[in-house]
Amino acid sequence: MSYTCPRCGSPVQHGSHSSAALAVGLIGSLLMAAFGAFECKKCGKIPQSEFPPEVRSKIMMGSVGMAVGAVVLVIVLFVVLAALKR
Ligand SMILES: [Zn+2]
Repeated sequence: MSYTCPRCGSPVQHGSHSSAALAVGLIGSLLMAAFGAFECKKCGKIPQSEFPPEVRSKIMMGSVGMAVGAVVLVIVLFVVLAALKR
């Protein structure tokens, strides 16, 4: 999923939080990717509030999707672990 920079029009990415993401684990890194600020190669960090409303609603939908995915992942992990214990 990629978005366009509201300042210069080039593609933006989520900021890299590799060391922090390692500390909080997979779910945390998913949530950080969903809710974190974006980063433009030319302009630096772009807060989500700078994006036009329709893009922000898309980002929100993507974030909710990722959060739901993370929760489903946790549930699947628990089910698998419970099944393995039997
Ligand atoms: Zn830019």
